Amino acid sequence: MSILLKNVQLNRVPTDIFIEGKYIKRIGAALPDVADTVIDGTMKAVVPGFINGHGHAAMTLFRGFGDDISLEQWLTEKIWPYEKEWTDEDVFWGVKLACLEMIKSGTTCFNDMYMRFPAVRQAVEEMGLRAVLGATMFDYFQEDTATRYKRETLQTLTAPRSDRISLSIAPHAIYTVSARTLQWAADVAAANDCLLHLHLAETQTEHANSIKNFGLSPVRYLHSLKLLSPRLVLAHCLYIDDDEIRALADHGVKVVHNPNSNLKLGSGHVFKYTEMKAAGITVSIGTDGAASSNNLDMLEAAKTASLLQKGWRNDPTAMPADETLQCITENGADMLRLNTGRIEPGRLADLCLIDLKAPAFTPNFHFVSNLIYAASHGSCVDTLLCDGRILMQNRYVPGEEDILRQAANAAQKLEKVENKK
Ligand SMILES: [Zn+2]
Repeated sequence: MSILLKNVQLNRVPTDIFIEGKYIKRIGAALPDVADTVIDGTMKAVVPGFINGHGHAAMTLFRGFGDDISLEQWLTEKIWPYEKEWTDEDVFWGVKLACLEMIKSGTTCFNDMYMRFPAVRQAVEEMGLRAVLGATMFDYFQEDTATRYKRETLQTLTAPRSDRISLSIAPHAIYTVSARTLQWAADVAAANDCLLHLHLAETQTEHANSIKNFGLSPVRYLHSLKLLSPRLVLAHCLYIDDDEIRALADHGVKVVHNPNSNLKLGSGHVFKYTEMKAAGITVSIGTDGAASSNNLDMLEAAKTASLLQKGWRNDPTAMPADETLQCITENGADMLRLNTGRIEPGRLADLCLIDLKAPAFTPNFHFVSNLIYAASHGSCVDTLLCDGRILMQNRYVPGEEDILRQAANAAQKLEKVENKK
């Protein structure tokens, strides 16, 4: 299977891109028109598919279900009691809905953390996206609960999967997972060469409770458990000081900023991007679940991230557009250890075509500026390729009507359960 992208703008220069199998093979002017499929790229720009650094795909079913409350209240009253009601099939349609939304907004790869791994995996396989999937671990400081989640985690490691799907070990957070289970998770991640993915330093309450319960701040607590390593991916990291940034950098830890989720849950707005970048930390951007950020749109998350840096620092030079695009492409790929995120021969063909026939791209003095600051929403994405396959063309994704209907049906269960309470 081969695809030729003809006359598409790469860094504002009309170019042809030849894709064979999963990979970008050639990039150049006027390549021969010999391919199974030729896509006319006139008035389109090509960028790497976006990489969503942190989320919970199935939680699209919770979209708009628990708004305008604190993280603690949201988790304990609106999320955890209802998640118990989901079946594998519900989760399957929730993840399909998430994949549809990601495809329609330019995302080709995401880093996920959720329960019911077989249903999640099956949905991602069918939708054609690339993902790093982690089965969430909790133990609530109880041995029997830990045993159950450990067993489920070990089962995910042997589950059959395509090479578009990699695995992580995903303990939820330091306030839901004991030190012993965290260390077990780190050991399993190391033994299986997987990423270790967890939430950390998301709220002031988490920070205060960490000091109260463990005598250490969240990062220092993880450090004391010897969990800092290049395979560690931390979502949030809002409440960390300069010494902790140094420690994360020294150990090669990666960090995912989730600006919309942090703002909406009132968790905080001071993310130390400039300091982390200066220290050499790979910073990527995520949406978090649609239950807290309400959508999975990486261009929206990217714009918020950039504006937040400029705003809280009173510095318009902070997190410029080019660096922001790098966070949602190259940095995400580096964090997830994937051969994508860049448009070069030999890279996986995960590509996003942007429609330039839109007001946001007129005039087009600086394409990346328009993409991050003006488009600011994935509706400018016209065509999406992942792993050398076309997942969306002219904004149409096969089967989308069925996915919307099935996911809406699954989500109706929330109202039924709520009415019974
Ligand atoms: Zn999260």
